[in-house]
Amino acid sequence: MIEDKNQQRTSLGNLGEFGLIEHLTKDIEIKQPGTLTGIGDDAAVLDFKDKKVVVSTDLLVEGVHFDLAYMPLKHLGYKAVVVNVSDICAMNAKPTQITVSIAVSNRFPVEALDELYDGIKLAARVYGVDIVGGDTTSSQKGMILSITALGEANAEDVAYRNGAGDTDLLVVTGDIGASYMGLKVLEREKQVFEVNPQNQPDLDAYSYLIERQLKPEARADVRELLAGLEIKPTSMIDISDGLSSEIIHLAKASGVGCNLYEEKIPVDPQLINTCEEFNIDITTVAINGGEDYELLFTIKMEDFEKIKHNPNFTIIGHMTQESEGIHLITRANTKIPLKSRGWNALSENE
Ligand code: ADP
Ligand code: MG
Repeated sequence: MIEDKNQQRTSLGNLGEFGLIEHLTKDIEIKQPGTLTGIGDDAAVLDFKDKKVVVSTDLLVEGVHFDLAYMPLKHLGYKAVVVNVSDICAMNAKPTQITVSIAVSNRFPVEALDELYDGIKLAARVYGVDIVGGDTTSSQKGMILSITALGEANAEDVAYRNGAGDTDLLVVTGDIGASYMGLKVLEREKQVFEVNPQNQPDLDAYSYLIERQLKPEARADVRELLAGLEIKPTSMIDISDGLSSEIIHLAKASGVGCNLYEEKIPVDPQLINTCEEFNIDITTVAINGGEDYELLFTIKMEDFEKIKHNPNFTIIGHMTQESEGIHLITRANTKIPLKSRGWNALSENE
């Protein structure tokens, strides 16, 4: 799995900081009309006209948030952009610009950073965001990557976490849980590889799961899908930590309760098969596994007809009065309190 296709190693010292910035950013193009000045001055200059500006930032640390043993650098760059774009989409806003900051030790050659930037630039193209700045510095050990994303929306379109009403329907896009199982598969293959490097893994049966883990996509299409259906989400969040934890965020912020129905949770057939193989409960994975980057939102009950047959969306529950609490209603019709057991980077190693 650890590929060595590119043997050429140009030391970072050869280029120096400014040479490296020039090397990484020289072919970056500006597409957004709102980007007046991008890379090259002390700050970017942006024009959002009469729109509201939405900003989100993320910090990724090698060994904590990613493991380069099974995360190729190009995928890391792509995913780092996606994660931030997803946060903008979760405000029901349109992503427009990003900045990229990196700290790297001299163990990384220039070619490695090229790969990272190939992924970053690809994602920027796919999501139509301009790379308008960043910072480049050295680290004692490992890689640190921070991306900030900006987006725009009309004031009345912005969806906050705290807008859910106590009779609203709870809706999720796509399917969930796959990314977490993709990671489990990769971790298992890494162990096999460490025991016997000759062992070439056959990962066909897990291709969807692995893709969801290594190359997730943000639901940048949902804003327009909902606008087309004339639905304004009353609250919205993206699924980074896990369905259960995101539901709790929405419900707590909105001062409401929630019933989530186990039988409604959308999962991919590959997830079902792999959970059986690993002897893991599918619902546990679907509600606690993170990093799916699907959107979770609430809509008014009267919008039910507009959404019920749409293949992009699944109604998985409804909000309730706060006093009723937050529950999973199982297939056997028992009521279990939902717990937030999402991926918490700080508590995971406790
Ligand atoms: P400053 O000294 O003001 O921090 P820099 O020399 O770090 O400026 O950066 C020069 C220009 O290059 C700025 O526009 C900055 O935003 C941009 N830049 C620096 N590093 C990166 C990077 N890793 N990716 C994209 N743009 C970068
Ligand atoms: Mg700088």
